Amino acid sequence: MQTTYSFRIYPSKEQEGLMNQTIERCRQLYNAALEQRQIGWKLRRKSITYSVQQNELPALKQALPEFKNIQSQVLQDVLRRLDTAFQNFFEGRARYPRFKGKDHYNSFTYPQVDVVKKTFAKIEQGLLYLSKIGFVKINTHRKFDPTQVSRINIKRKSDGWYANLTCEADLSIVVNPTTQKEIGIDMGLNSFIATSEGELIANPRYLRKTEKYLKRMQRQLSRKQKGSKNRRKAKGKLAKKHLKVANQRKDFHHKLSNHLIKEQDLIAAEDLAVKNMARNHRLAKSIADAGWSQFLRYLEYKALKYGKRFVKVPPHGTSQTCICGAGVPKTLADRVHYCPECGLTGNRDIVSAKVILKRAQELAAVA
Ligand SMILES: [Zn+2]
Repeated sequence: MQTTYSFRIYPSKEQEGLMNQTIERCRQLYNAALEQRQIGWKLRRKSITYSVQQNELPALKQALPEFKNIQSQVLQDVLRRLDTAFQNFFEGRARYPRFKGKDHYNSFTYPQVDVVKKTFAKIEQGLLYLSKIGFVKINTHRKFDPTQVSRINIKRKSDGWYANLTCEADLSIVVNPTTQKEIGIDMGLNSFIATSEGELIANPRYLRKTEKYLKRMQRQLSRKQKGSKNRRKAKGKLAKKHLKVANQRKDFHHKLSNHLIKEQDLIAAEDLAVKNMARNHRLAKSIADAGWSQFLRYLEYKALKYGKRFVKVPPHGTSQTCICGAGVPKTLADRVHYCPECGLTGNRDIVSAKVILKRAQELAAVA
């Protein structure tokens, strides 16, 4: 399992220039390699593979010296990105790879940190070494083990630069004390989650507020004239706001998942194919906003890290059955569960959470 630490970096003007240049050349390489694959297929019905393209990199550097200023592995990673995009397409997970415009290519990656011994030599002084760029100021606000870092991704965002450090399997599992408590959680229709203990947990107010503001800005932007200076300005402002919302959401998801992992020995949730659900338009917006899948990812890795259990159960009909097993059909508008068999009455989302917990306990008993 991998963990990624995201730290802000503060390049000098000169370093920033180099980093922008690196991104632009990586983008050009990506597009050129995509074109090469397309032409190869059109003219000769021949698939051009990653290794073919990688073997051409030295010749490329000879022909175009500006690529000499970029570490070879960074360029290899660009080709690997393209290769992954094609794999995803072939396996039906994504659309056919597209050419990347300037707004859609914002990072580059050092895929093998361990060979660059210099990388963390001055990390204690707040400096990260990036090949061909130099020592860049970094704010490592969290502790991490440099020997575990396997790759570094440098990302340009609307509010500045970030280094994303991917650490390999941190097997130092910290076993939290057991609590003998088990909980089921359901993605609520009105709240963020409902729990089998009868709680409804809403998105925090600050998050709802920025989300609302974001929607307003989006509407204003669509009214501004295309290509105008005003529109460009508004676009930049909007991008910053988006980032803020994403960070607030992350923060909320971390806090809530930490709380659950600490309090519970077992956490059960629906195994949601979020994509499938998103096709249902009535639910689509709220699912996207809630970032439910991000939250489940957090729970999953924290359960692993702290020696707790996270169980995903088949989602089929969790809102349409009772814990006694009887079927209790409901439409989306029905807010209350009432079971004619056993008489259980309650908030529909809370009952669903109880059904989810029961399913997980049955699964756990078999396993
Ligand atoms: Zn019942």
